[in-house]
Amino acid sequence: MDVRQYELYIAGRFTRGTGDATFDSINPATGQTVATFVDASEADVAAAISAARKAFDSGPWARMPVAERAERLNRVLHIIGSRIPELAQMEYQDNGATVRQATSFMVPGALAFAMGMTDLATSFPFQEGIPVTTGPAPVGPYGAYTLKYEPIGVVGAITPWNGPLILAMWKVWPALLAGNTVVLKPSELASSTASELAKAFAEADMPPGVLNVVTGGGAVGAALVKSPHVDHVSFTGGTETGRQIATYAASANLKRLTLELGGKSPAIVLDDVDLDVAVDGVVWSTLFLSGQMCTCASRVLVDNKIYDEFVGRLVDRIGKLVVGPTDDMSTDLGPVVSQRQRDRIERYVQIGISEGAVAALEGGRPSSPELAGGTYLEPTVFVDATPAMTISQEEIFGPVLAVMKTESDDDAVRIANDTPYGLAASIWTSDTRRALTLSDRLRCGTVWINDHNIISPSIPFGGFKMSGLGRENGVSGFKEYLEQKAVYLDLTPSPEQHMWGLVAPR
Ligand code: NDP
Repeated sequence: MDVRQYELYIAGRFTRGTGDATFDSINPATGQTVATFVDASEADVAAAISAARKAFDSGPWARMPVAERAERLNRVLHIIGSRIPELAQMEYQDNGATVRQATSFMVPGALAFAMGMTDLATSFPFQEGIPVTTGPAPVGPYGAYTLKYEPIGVVGAITPWNGPLILAMWKVWPALLAGNTVVLKPSELASSTASELAKAFAEADMPPGVLNVVTGGGAVGAALVKSPHVDHVSFTGGTETGRQIATYAASANLKRLTLELGGKSPAIVLDDVDLDVAVDGVVWSTLFLSGQMCTCASRVLVDNKIYDEFVGRLVDRIGKLVVGPTDDMSTDLGPVVSQRQRDRIERYVQIGISEGAVAALEGGRPSSPELAGGTYLEPTVFVDATPAMTISQEEIFGPVLAVMKTESDDDAVRIANDTPYGLAASIWTSDTRRALTLSDRLRCGTVWINDHNIISPSIPFGGFKMSGLGRENGVSGFKEYLEQKAVYLDLTPSPEQHMWGLVAPR
């Protein structure tokens, strides 16, 4: 198989940069190298920031009407849209998603998001209030005013490996539609589709420096955050990395921050639920992408009146899931992203056992020789877990469920809220009113009723507590990429009517 070779994308050109370091992307399904990338040096990051700075400060991008920016970005989307199967393959070869997930969700979802964000941005009122230029305007105590939304400047976008293209789109599209310029740093585990996005920008003849893509590890991301020439960082990743980024951002230039971090989301199963629906729903909630999506439910809180029956059916259903090759349409769960991630997940399984959790299903490495080259892991279901256990508190990011019994709705709310995270939750019930009442009491940014892991481009997404800062998507997400400027115009007709009480009349 050919190993794809990628370069950095800086100021509209592909370049090998200043150093000679490279790194490989390893297919977690096979252990084989699928692509090689340039490991950007500090000088390369500085060059990318400088290109974005120049494109923002003196290029046409920030000054052109949003409709023109949208029209140009649509050209990129057409290119991406014509390559869905190829890009989907790159996604699952980088991160171990299945072909079904990549072709039906990861790439089309990225396009759908970008189109939804384009609709939102092109109808966004970039100016509110009474435009000072169009007088006559009413004269009040504060005069006439207008409120303008302006781009912030250079945006650093740092993304993780689990949804490489979609999470890049979540940042790049609103940032660019708002008139900013961007330096994108994808995860070193999954940089292919970000680099392909750069190729689509080049093919669509986008203005140089509007999007720059620098590949490499955490040091490349850190260089971006520490730069005083970057005005905003939008980051998706782990909570500990987010905390570090907040420190760098504060000491560099108090740059704006959007942080989408980890979670320990619960799926709450009430006693009136339709068990057939809820069992499949909870499987989807917990094991999409082998449990490696930030919103995945890793805690399942089940009412004691249905606990035994529900848990029996859930364990049975999960036991029948197919762990297999990523390019096979019948596979339910592919490998986890890397050897390091598998070791980490296995450590958590051992911690669960040592703390007394009962593994109703203890998934290990599959025995099939066909899967021996990959980082596969069958799911583990811990039952009768308690809220204080490590497996109930810490984000594992893998196919491991902690199932707990709840005595009442109050008990479910108490346990659901009892972690440092607050990203999402789902409630499974036949009683919508009951679910809505419970949703008011959950301390998290998204609540689904009889669903999970569904995220719309037009609805704000983000976390309470240590799951993040700010929002992505929706109008609030778009506004994260804009500064607000208030312009007052004093139209007071006579000096006596001025509010300048401190200036004595002459
Ligand atoms: P990491 O936090 O390890 O990495 C995220 C990105 O940050 C990567 O590009 C990484 O580079 C980069 N990075 C690492 N260290 C630094 C640093 N010191 N300064 C700047 N950038 C840095 O997360 P993962 O990639 O492992 O992703 C998994 C995590 O992401 C989970 O905790 C998950 O919950 C969270 N996540 C949150 C989502 C949300 O919307 N809330 C969505 C998806 C994931 P590199 O990988 O190359 O080292």
